[in-house]
Amino acid sequence: MNFKNITIRELHDKLVNKEISPKELIKSTIENAKKHLGSNFLITLCEKEAIENVEKFSSKIDEKNFLWSIPYVSKDNIATKGILTTSGSKILSNYYPPFDATITEILNEKNSVMIGKTALDELGMGGTGLFSFNGEVRNPYDNERLIGGSSSGSTYAVCEGIVPFSIGTDTGDSIRKPASFAGIVGFKPTYGSISRYGVAPYAPSLDHVGFFTNNIEDMAVICDSTFKYDLKDFTSIDNSIKFLDNLNNKKKVKFGFIKHVEKFMEGKVKRSYEKFFNYLKKDGHKVIKVDFDKKLLDAIPAIYMMISFAEGVSTNANLDGIKFGLRQPGEDYKQIITNSRTKGFGDTVKRRFIIGSYQLKSENQELLLAKSKKVRRLIVNELNKIYEQIDILIFPPSLKPAPLVKNVLGTDVEEREDNDAAFLDDLLILSNLNGMPSITLPFIKENELPIGINLNAKPKEDLFLLQISKYVEDLINKLNKGGEFDE
Ligand code: GLN
Repeated sequence: MNFKNITIRELHDKLVNKEISPKELIKSTIENAKKHLGSNFLITLCEKEAIENVEKFSSKIDEKNFLWSIPYVSKDNIATKGILTTSGSKILSNYYPPFDATITEILNEKNSVMIGKTALDELGMGGTGLFSFNGEVRNPYDNERLIGGSSSGSTYAVCEGIVPFSIGTDTGDSIRKPASFAGIVGFKPTYGSISRYGVAPYAPSLDHVGFFTNNIEDMAVICDSTFKYDLKDFTSIDNSIKFLDNLNNKKKVKFGFIKHVEKFMEGKVKRSYEKFFNYLKKDGHKVIKVDFDKKLLDAIPAIYMMISFAEGVSTNANLDGIKFGLRQPGEDYKQIITNSRTKGFGDTVKRRFIIGSYQLKSENQELLLAKSKKVRRLIVNELNKIYEQIDILIFPPSLKPAPLVKNVLGTDVEEREDNDAAFLDDLLILSNLNGMPSITLPFIKENELPIGINLNAKPKEDLFLLQISKYVEDLINKLNKGGEFDE
């Protein structure tokens, strides 16, 4: 079955009406996933576990639970008891966690069926999809292009209709950027709404768990079950909300768009945003062009790198080949650690560890790291100021379709020649800096390649954001059907 054109609720109806049995559904999902294994989107296919799992509850129809028997895949930095969990890194390529992450546990309790663990740029550090230790994942729309990352396999799975939803993580933009390149929905809720217990950390002050789906309604179904306070995660908040029953919004909205972003837009993207804004206004909403201190915008990439690399050094210090993970031989424990880390990590990770460690040297902490945290606060203050004028902040997740693989420089995505525009590639990081909910939806196609649109709301306004996203999704679908964006 291809899940591209069916909602989770429709699928649920088919299961409840016995048009398809849970076992048939899971088996056919696995058979289909097998056809895609050559793409590297999965690190582990969980065939045996999934079938054993569905057999446990397949006969007990759970009419009220939309997630009953629904297949999904999970990013491989999320702990699954007794199932290989590698974080996309060679150093963890033999790690079988003795416990489940809270998010895994919740979906198990809901009797959803995990059919595989997906590829990611090593330890979540990257945005290309090329650097999972098991191989490259590329864009299904064009094999010469990136699918983006770090949640590359989870993006691929929903983009190809292999599963109706997948789990991702997002420290900078790892759900919302690839969603744009793949023409699907990617949502990172307010910081702390979904437990990170059992999710391998990259940079804990920025890390979020979120999901990929094909539409907003499915996203609401999943969030209904997964927004939960968790005692085991000290950054967890109680932000549980009933999304699905409340997706309708009748309020008039003040949409905001940053003036500096507009300056760098051109061609079809620019014209499409203009058309889209006009339709919002026709519906009685406001579109307000807002100022954002350009110095602060320009600082985003540096601040992200300083904070995430430094946190990444300390969170990954436990990967030493001693306690768990792949161990290389050595004369003493120091040599074992050095050899294990030298062989176990790829270039991106090593580069980030070097830069991060430099800032963690005691003489640099005040000079560099503390300063970047202060600038982070200034950025958050600037966002707060903007939200005094508007309700929903719109960003282009990218101004172009997915970049070509050959344009990846070293281990990162292409660099811009124009320094003035560099901030555009990292705009989505704003919502990791202040923790606001942020979602990417499909928007237009340029030469048959998808480009998404990204919407944000104040922290804890997740319901409002999904309500507006539902409205925007319907509007964009209508405009695309009417050929409004065609040129
Ligand atoms: N692309 C960003 C990076 O390179 C984001 C990573 C993420 O969100 N995990 O770090």
